[in-house]
Amino acid sequence: QEIPTIQIIDAKKYVGQTVKIGAWLRQKRGSGKIAFLQLRDGTAFFQGVVAKADVPESVFDVVKSLKQETSLYVVGEIHEDERSSFGYEIAISDVEIIGESHDYPITPKEHGTEFLFDERHLYLRHLKPFATLKIRNTLIAATYEFFNERGFTKLDSPLLTGSAPEGTTELFETDYFGEPAFLSQTGQLYAEAGAMAFGKVFTFGPTFRAEKSKTRRHLTEFWMVEPEMAFMHQEESLEIQEAYIAFLIAKVLERNEQELDILERDKDLLRSYTELPYPRVSYDDAIKLLQDNGFDVAWGVDFGSPEETFLANHFAKPVFIVNFPKAIKAFYMKRHATRDDVVISADLLAPEGYGEIIGGSERDTDYDYLKERIAAEGLNQDEYEWYLDLRKYGSVPHSGFGLGLERMVTFVTGEEHIREAIPFPRMTNRLRP
Ligand code: ATP
Ligand code: MG
Ligand code: MG
Ligand code: MG
Repeated sequence: QEIPTIQIIDAKKYVGQTVKIGAWLRQKRGSGKIAFLQLRDGTAFFQGVVAKADVPESVFDVVKSLKQETSLYVVGEIHEDERSSFGYEIAISDVEIIGESHDYPITPKEHGTEFLFDERHLYLRHLKPFATLKIRNTLIAATYEFFNERGFTKLDSPLLTGSAPEGTTELFETDYFGEPAFLSQTGQLYAEAGAMAFGKVFTFGPTFRAEKSKTRRHLTEFWMVEPEMAFMHQEESLEIQEAYIAFLIAKVLERNEQELDILERDKDLLRSYTELPYPRVSYDDAIKLLQDNGFDVAWGVDFGSPEETFLANHFAKPVFIVNFPKAIKAFYMKRHATRDDVVISADLLAPEGYGEIIGGSERDTDYDYLKERIAAEGLNQDEYEWYLDLRKYGSVPHSGFGLGLERMVTFVTGEEHIREAIPFPRMTNRLRP
């Protein structure tokens, strides 16, 4: 009878059976008589036990020679193991080394963050990155599910663009056959063109910003989900946004229990964030609330991290701050019906200090107004001709938003720093590996 080759995650289906598993050795401990091997295979982590008395001497000799991160096949019988959080272990009867490993740099002792990220190509193998990036994967898969179920078309926006909105210092410039080109900061304008063609679209891809400030919330390369919906006003867009966030959190709770436990994330707290609706607070009221609580902020400023943290914590939920001052928002945001100083926008702020998760707005549909705004902002008008065409040929009310994937990852996983939320982070001080 042939021995099945299985993945660790499936061990529970094989209790009492002999199986073969391809894995890496994380750590080894034991005595001269018994060895405990901490194994991982990319699906889960568990323990292998080898008793000297139960295996040929040659097998125990191989086990004794194993080093951290050696890759191997183990053969053995699966047992329940109530002491481990995983619940199962393997009683190893045979071992075959696949790839040796010597002087693996990330030893069980504590290492500094810079060292771990210098070794990110190896650090990916460890518990915390594993759990965080598995949850990232769930958020990506659930994003496609959510928008596909609702009839959205994924429409990719270009990453290389020819237009340089003036006055911004956040664009990366590159050479495009002798002509300057820029790495895209957002797919927004292209998504609007898509919405006029496909009704409901979303773009999802990397975006680039030469963020000079070093914060724990900003990467220079991050992934953004940007839905754009034709024939839709802002209130309906807010309903989609909160349903999307609740859906993402619910899917992680459903699929990533193991990972949330590794990260010691409070699942009840996360579950509380799936209760809708989220509060909607006007920018005006937010400023008052901040002032009443000792913040030195005047009407007209954008919020920094302390303000964002206070506001969301105040409601103990994600909170929409709506209708920001026109002067601090993008030119395409829709004018308010009765006020000239604010626009129909919303930022979704996460509690616990995870910052702005979503920024969005209804879009203005008026050709002349937008043309004026583009000029007033000092933008290169020629570059926006195509965008203005969208207002010339069958303009309709439409709304959209942008969610920063890595911000969402930190919020769901409870990671303090955004560099943990992407496999190979790019920041002002990090371009390698
Ligand atoms: P912030 O105020 O935090 O700098 P923003 O208002 O500049 O963000 P938007 O232009 O509204 O950001 O982008 C949409 C979303 O993309 C944000 O809500 C956030 O989730 C995410 N985001 C923005 N900048 C970054 C960045 N540098 N790194 C990671 N995510 C980001
Ligand atoms: Mg910013
Ligand atoms: Mg912002
Ligand atoms: Mg924003």
